[in-house]
Amino acid sequence: MYDTENYEKSNREAAITGPIPEYDRYGRSTSVYYHRCSGCGVEALRRVDVQTHCRCGEGR
Ligand SMILES: [Zn+2]
Repeated sequence: MYDTENYEKSNREAAITGPIPEYDRYGRSTSVYYHRCSGCGVEALRRVDVQTHCRCGEGR
C-alpha cells in the first residue's frame, strides 16, 4: 500500500506517500484519502497538490 515511496525519487528526494486514509476523532474512516510528503510534511487530497506545495526538491 505504501509502495509509492520510490515514485518521485527521480526528481525529488522526499517521498510522497499515499493515499493515506483519514480518520475522524472516533477512529472511523472518513472516506477521505490524502497524500503526504515525508520531507516537508505537506498534505493534500491529491498527489499533484502535494507536488505543487512541496519545496523539498528546490533550493539545494
Ligand atoms: Zn516536500
